[in-house]
Amino acid sequence: MRDPFSPFIYDLSDRVALVTGASSGLGARMAKVLAAHGAKVALAARRVDKLSELKAEIERRGGTAMAVELDVTSEAQTIAAYDAIESSLGPVDTVIANAGIAMDKGRATDNPIEDFDTTYNVNLKGVFLTAREGAKRMIEAGSRDSERGRIVMISSITSFDISPHLAFYSATKAGVSQMGRVLAHDWARMGVNVNMIAPGYIQTEINDGMFDTPAGQKMLAGWPRRRVIDSDALDGVVLYLCSDQSRQITGTVTTVDDGQALN
Ligand code: NAD
Repeated sequence: MRDPFSPFIYDLSDRVALVTGASSGLGARMAKVLAAHGAKVALAARRVDKLSELKAEIERRGGTAMAVELDVTSEAQTIAAYDAIESSLGPVDTVIANAGIAMDKGRATDNPIEDFDTTYNVNLKGVFLTAREGAKRMIEAGSRDSERGRIVMISSITSFDISPHLAFYSATKAGVSQMGRVLAHDWARMGVNVNMIAPGYIQTEINDGMFDTPAGQKMLAGWPRRRVIDSDALDGVVLYLCSDQSRQITGTVTTVDDGQALN
């Protein structure tokens, strides 16, 4: 039990964290934040050149990082990535299943059905593969006793709020939130916590240029604070969910949206 008079400090120095989709946006940010708090971070994505730059930046700032090529839709690559991380950094006890895509091609009547499969494969199957392989290894490494397994899956406010033209994406994000609750239940006695973060809109590659369009401007005008969220908004929640302090938090979905869904 923590001494209530000792200040809260997120010390992740004995953790090995995997962040998928770390080559840009929220993934890159979360990797830096975890590294800054002591975690050894495995940066996974398809664009290894981008990962090398991020690895170098983390190391310049005193952190430990490795880059690993990973297409999250591939089970074989997922297993190989965990193997590579384990032999370089040690067993992974912290997973951020972040990789995701959105394909906005207008009204659903105009959406090619291939986009459904592509979105599903990355956003839902990919998240599952990443989480499952992580959980398997955490359990093998003794998470049942240590209660230190942490999996954070990135959902979205589109999982419960309406975003025009994003039927496929929204369905996968609703799937992430609900699948995560089931996984949390499945692994509850194994010391693996599964929690979801549902961010609102933050400017990244996934929505590049969107807020310059009339539709984007209309969206902005409809939010109570009329702004996109700052990129540091998730930092504290991510740290908490990856830390020992969240030992008894599992199966939750934390919305971080600056009130965007309060419309
Ligand atoms: P982003 O496009 O910058 O990042 C997504 C990352 O996932 C990229 O690095 C991309 O290369 C990677 N990726 C895509 N397909 C992959 C695959 N098959 N294998 C491995 N990596 C793959 O956008 P972001 O905003 O940083 O998105 C990160 C996550 O946050 C996504 O899951 C997204 O749905 C979610 N999200 C973003 C917002 C937002 O407003 N930016 C809001 C809610 C949720």
